[in-house]
Amino acid sequence: MRTSQVWNWIYHRGVTEFSAMANISKSLQKQLEANFIISRPDVTSYQISEDGTRKYLVRFRDGNEAESVFIPDEDRGTLCISSQVGCTLNCRFCYTGTQRLVRNLSANEIVSQIMIARDDLGEWPTPTDGRKITNIVLMGMGEPLYNFENVKKAVLILRDPEGIQMSRRRITLSTAGVVPLMERAGREIGVNLAVSLHAVTDEVRDKLVPINRKYPIHELLSACRDYPGAHNARRITFEYIMLKDINDSDADAKKLVGLIHKYELPAKVNLIPFNPWPGAPYECSDWERIEKFSSLIFKSGVSAPIRMPRGRDIMAACGQLKSASIKIKASERKKL
Ligand code: SF4
Repeated sequence: MRTSQVWNWIYHRGVTEFSAMANISKSLQKQLEANFIISRPDVTSYQISEDGTRKYLVRFRDGNEAESVFIPDEDRGTLCISSQVGCTLNCRFCYTGTQRLVRNLSANEIVSQIMIARDDLGEWPTPTDGRKITNIVLMGMGEPLYNFENVKKAVLILRDPEGIQMSRRRITLSTAGVVPLMERAGREIGVNLAVSLHAVTDEVRDKLVPINRKYPIHELLSACRDYPGAHNARRITFEYIMLKDINDSDADAKKLVGLIHKYELPAKVNLIPFNPWPGAPYECSDWERIEKFSSLIFKSGVSAPIRMPRGRDIMAACGQLKSASIKIKASERKKL
């Protein structure tokens, strides 16, 4: 009973002091204060894009930083959170991949990114309907499956009715393809799966997503087919970044559809126009090319919406996160 009360104060009312927990006795409040802290990491940079996207640079107690991004839409609000400071995977199109891995985030540091966004959006107490954060995606900095235990613990807090109380259908974990942990993720974490595919041949994917050299496309798509809980009503999302003359031909689109059918995947494809960053080795495909690519996939019965870039002006778009991004000169940012 006491645990429920404390969780309710923390996760549904957003309090940061035990002394504010009115239905807890003074003596227990003191005991809690002596043994625990409720705090938020500092937000060292806060930017709002011209399209309403908000980016938080969050500094944790040891001084390390990670970014999270809130993307408002008409019918939803998506919060993209980080699971690591930096990343080991070095995907070639991703700005985070240029920053070496510093460390995994703890479960509380992962959850605290949601608490910070809810503070900012004024979502206390938890609204019974009309929440501003309707969806959470683990697509920020880092590979979530390389921080399995902390991500699992954090997601269980997000899903818990006495925690953040978010349906698992509204939480998506994105992996670059850590094949050995995918089945376990489906079973133990049980959220929607997104896979950073980005190429349809091993030759190209080896370069774009180097983890492919360890777990090539055949192994990845077999693991997707076996992902617990995936079915037509809960499809796996394949993220596909559109890179000019690299992965955006008609043949690539047809091959992508062929793979989805071959492995009988309940899937949809998210086409992501490449978001540039300083020194990026790629260019975004032309708009007509992206539309053609999308229509070819649609024609074969697979959904392939184009994800409109959000927050590019504040380097908050997909693949642009990096905790050092605050150091980019304004002139450089303008060029992007
Ligand atoms: S795309 Fe994801 S896994 Fe790849 S380098 Fe970027 S953060 Fe890491």
